[in-house]
Amino acid sequence: MPSALNPAATGQKPGSRFQGLSDRLRQIQHVALDMDGTIYCGSTVFPFTNPFLKLLSELNIDFTLLTNNSSRSVEDYIAHLRRMDIHVTADQLCTSAHLTIEFLKETTPKTRHIFLLGTDSMSSEIAAAGFTLATDSADDEPDAVLVGFDMGLTFSRLCRAAYWIKQGKLFIASHPDRVCPTDQPTVLVDCGSVCAALTEATGRKPDAVLGKPDPRMLREVLQRHELRPENLAMVGDRLYTDMVMAQRAGALSVLVLTGEATQAEAASHIPSLDLVVKDLAQFGEMLKAARNGG
Ligand SMILES: [Mg+2]
Repeated sequence: MPSALNPAATGQKPGSRFQGLSDRLRQIQHVALDMDGTIYCGSTVFPFTNPFLKLLSELNIDFTLLTNNSSRSVEDYIAHLRRMDIHVTADQLCTSAHLTIEFLKETTPKTRHIFLLGTDSMSSEIAAAGFTLATDSADDEPDAVLVGFDMGLTFSRLCRAAYWIKQGKLFIASHPDRVCPTDQPTVLVDCGSVCAALTEATGRKPDAVLGKPDPRMLREVLQRHELRPENLAMVGDRLYTDMVMAQRAGALSVLVLTGEATQAEAASHIPSLDLVVKDLAQFGEMLKAARNGG
């Protein structure tokens, strides 16, 4: 049985909570899925993931995979997922790097030249989108500083980023995560931590932080597929990114307990989540039961 349902979110009285849940589930036409902790852990796919995706297809429900990790390009992700026997096309993926590019194009159309702290994959995506990349030189003045998940970060480039931020250049972060999950004996210092260092050094916070929990990622999914929020479920394992984004975008918030958040943490989350399930398999069974009139 579902372990949490917010009656207020269903418009139902608490006594009719399971009927309200079925009604909500029957409206779902699209499922947005977090990746790490939801469909796989590191490089190991969960045994229920592919059966769940097959069930979605049988139920005529589409899906999009979302990630805040801007170190890999969409093409990298397609290859990474293929190794787990998960076959997707580019339009079934949405990364924070993609969102950042769209944001720059829409809100700051004069931004053409970017100083980037990011991987070669992210550099390629930025360049392919029509931007030019500034070198590590005081003579190569950018329009904006963009911080991603830079796994090859150097002290010189960190200092150059701080210099341009101090000069008043636009300061954009692709996502807020302070660390990237890993099963290795290390801490993967992520975009949010590097931005915190830059804020300490310059006195400026990022002008915009894309990626989850910013609702733009789900709004992009809604636009791509011409859906209303009530047609969309957002499934993830993190409360402060996946679930907060779901709630901000008005999608059904579905927490899986296969990653970071625990049942106790989920129970104390405000506002309440729509649904907490053990894993994707349980959510799949509920979607199927709702379609069958359950
Ligand atoms: Mg996750």
